[in-house]
Amino acid sequence: MKTIVLATKNKNKAREIAEMLNHQYKVLTMEDVGFSDDIQEDGLNFKENADIKARALYRHLKGQDVMIMGDDSGLVVDILEGAPGIYSARYAGEPVDDRRNNQKLLKELEGFSKNERKAHFVCVLSLIDGKTGKIYHAEGRVTGFIGEREMGEGGFGYDPVFMITEDRSFAQLSSEEKNRISHRGEAIKKAKNILKVF
Ligand code: IMP
Repeated sequence: MKTIVLATKNKNKAREIAEMLNHQYKVLTMEDVGFSDDIQEDGLNFKENADIKARALYRHLKGQDVMIMGDDSGLVVDILEGAPGIYSARYAGEPVDDRRNNQKLLKELEGFSKNERKAHFVCVLSLIDGKTGKIYHAEGRVTGFIGEREMGEGGFGYDPVFMITEDRSFAQLSSEEKNRISHRGEAIKKAKNILKVF
């Protein structure tokens, strides 16, 4: 079984990605391969940040028969000139707090119509073949709009305010439903084609 090493310390992310790949790969985190550096994500967009993460881990694993995967994702609201964008996790400042991020977003959009509240999630995956150093990319996105208030208990981050229909937020979907249509689900689907040749 081929191995994918994710440029993340987040074990939940690793489990979720392993599931989305139908457990056809062994999915490890940075910790599992003894890499604990703090990677500074100072890219100007999602792709640059995904590359920065993947490249840092590649330097540690260079030459090994593994696929290295860096990811970056976030929410883009057009009328806010793309905010929160690459700053999605820390939109309302440190420490990271999903609830405060959502409250800030709702406040920023007060008085805007449904059409003006259009938003999309983006996920960029950067894959590096440990043996050859060749880099590949896969991107997914899903479009919706920001609701007037938080709805639903599931998911994480901006899920309670991200509406796919008038009465359904991402936080009201089962994880299977969300994976099927989400930015991350779409990026992973594309990554499957890249992984086939690895
Ligand atoms: P990262 O890709 O793990 O760095 O995620 C960046 C941030 O984007 C998260 O902390 C969330 O605030 C937001 N985000 C990314 N994907 C999702 C999602 O599927 N639902 C809700 N928020 C998300």
